[in-house]
Amino acid sequence: MLPHHIHGQRVIGQSSSQGAVYNPATGQIIHCLPFATSAEIESALESAENAQHDWSRSSLAERSRLMFSFKHLLDKNTDALAELITLEHGKTHADAKASIQRGIEVVEYACGAPNLLKSTYSEGVGRDVDCYGLRQNLGICVGITPFNFPAMIPLWMYPLALICGNAFIHKPSEKDPSTALLLADLLYEAGAPKGLLTVLQGDKTVVDALISHPKVKAVSFVGSTQVAEHIYKTASSHGKRVQAFGSAKNHCLVMDDADLDDAANAILGAAYGSCGQRCMAIPVVLTLSHSCADALVQRLAPAIQALSIGPGNNDKTILGPLNTQESLDRVLHYLDIGVKEGAKLIIDGRKAHFPKEGFFIGASLFDAVTPSMRIYQDEIFGPVLCILRAPDYETAIAWINDHPYGNGAAIFTQSGEIAHDFAARVHIGMVGVNVPIPVPVGYHTFGGWKRSAFGDLGLHGPDGIQFYSQLKTITSRWPRGKNVHGFSLPTH
Ligand code: NAD
Repeated sequence: MLPHHIHGQRVIGQSSSQGAVYNPATGQIIHCLPFATSAEIESALESAENAQHDWSRSSLAERSRLMFSFKHLLDKNTDALAELITLEHGKTHADAKASIQRGIEVVEYACGAPNLLKSTYSEGVGRDVDCYGLRQNLGICVGITPFNFPAMIPLWMYPLALICGNAFIHKPSEKDPSTALLLADLLYEAGAPKGLLTVLQGDKTVVDALISHPKVKAVSFVGSTQVAEHIYKTASSHGKRVQAFGSAKNHCLVMDDADLDDAANAILGAAYGSCGQRCMAIPVVLTLSHSCADALVQRLAPAIQALSIGPGNNDKTILGPLNTQESLDRVLHYLDIGVKEGAKLIIDGRKAHFPKEGFFIGASLFDAVTPSMRIYQDEIFGPVLCILRAPDYETAIAWINDHPYGNGAAIFTQSGEIAHDFAARVHIGMVGVNVPIPVPVGYHTFGGWKRSAFGDLGLHGPDGIQFYSQLKTITSRWPRGKNVHGFSLPTH
C-alpha cells in the first residue's frame, strides 16, 4: 500500500478508491494506491497553508540553503531514485539516472534564490520619488505530473515554487508514484518545514478537487493535451494562474548535406529511447530526397534490429517495456492503422525478440508516410518512427508548421544558413540544430507552442520564477517638504 506525504511524513490513505501500480517489466501489480479523500485533501491544504505562512517570511539565504542540501541528497540518492523509476516506469537505469540529472539542474538553478529574486529599482523617477518591484509569493501551488518523468518534471516545478516563498502540493501520476515519495523524504531530510511539500496520490477526482479549491493559487500541469486543455480551462475559470503542457509530435528534418551516420545515430536514440515515451522524442523524420531517405533507412534498419529488449534493470537492455498494457495496445493499434493507411512497415516491432511477460514490444519503422495519415497526425507515444519524404524544403517547413503540436523540432545539416532559416521559421517552442532532443538546460526555459502548451509561461529557467511569483511595483515618495497632491495624474 503506497502512502501520501502529508505534513512532512508518509501517511497511509484511508480511501477505498484505489489504483494499482504495475511493474511494466513483469506485467504484475506491485502496489495498491489509495487515492486521497476530501478529508485528506483538506488536511494537506491546511498543513501547506500553515507552512507557507512562515516560509513566506524566510530569508532568501534559508531558501537557498534548503536547495543546496536537497541537491546534495539528490546526488547521494540518485541510484535509489533511478531504481524506483525503473521498477514502476520501465525505462533503463541509465536513462532514469540521466532524467534525474536533468531535474537536479533545476535544483542547482534554484540554489541561486537570492540572485533570482532580485528585482528592479529606479531612483528618482520624480523629484524625491523612487520606483521599485518586488517578486512576491503566490501561496499554495499545485503540480500535476505525467508518468513518463516521475522525478524530472516535479523537479522542474517545486524547487522554483519553494524558493519564491510558496508551499507546493504534488499530485504524481498514479502509474509510478513511489519516486515522488522518496523525493519528498529527501526534501524533509534537507530541512524543509513540515507541510511545505505535500504528495497527494490520486486520479482525476483528486486533480479536479485541487484545481478548483479556493486555497490553491497556481497550477502547473504536464501530461496529454486532452487533459491539459481541461486543466487550463477549469483552473483558469476558478481564478488560478495556470500553465499546462501537453502532447507532442516532434519532427527531425535531415538535409541532404547532413552527416548521415551522426543523424541516424541521433535519431535512433531520440525515436526509441525510453521506448518512445518522451514528450521530446523524435517520432517523425523528414527528408528532401529519396537518396537521403534510403540512406537513413539503410543505417536505421539494422541498428533497430540490434536493439536489445528487456527489463530496464538489466545492464544490457537498450529498449525497456512500455509503461502500461494500455500504451502497448495503443502502439499495436497504430501499427495496424499505419499498414491500413498504406505506409510501408520496414521494421515491424511485433516480430522482434522480447520477453513474453510485461508490456514489451520491439521498435518499428514506417517509410512512405504522408501528412494525412493518422500515424503522422496523432501522438502514438511508443517506439514507432515515421519517415516522410518531402518534395522540397518549403513543403517540409509547411508540414511542421501545419502540425497541431509544436513542442520540439530538430534539423540535421552542415549549412549555417539553412539552420538559421529553420530555427527562425518553424512554429515550434524548442528547436535543435544537430541536436535531436533539444530540452533546454535548467537555467533556460522549457515549453512548446500550439496544442503542446496552454498558458504564457514555460517551465523552469526565468519563466519558472515569473510563474511562481507575482510582481508588485512600488512608487515611493519621502518628501523633504510638504506633500502637494493634485487632482491630475502625476507626471513627475
Ligand atoms: P495524462 O494526461 O494521462 O496524465 C497526466 C496527469 O494528469 C496524471 O497525474 C494523471 O493522474 C492526471 N489526469 C489524467 N486524466 C485526467 C483527467 N481526466 N482529469 C484530470 N487529471 C487527469 O498523461 P500521461 O499519460 O501521464 O503522460 C503522457 C503524456 O504527457 C503524453 O501526451 C506526453 O506527450 C505528455 N507529456 C508532455 C510533456 C511536455 O512537456 N509537453 C512532458 C511529458 C509528457
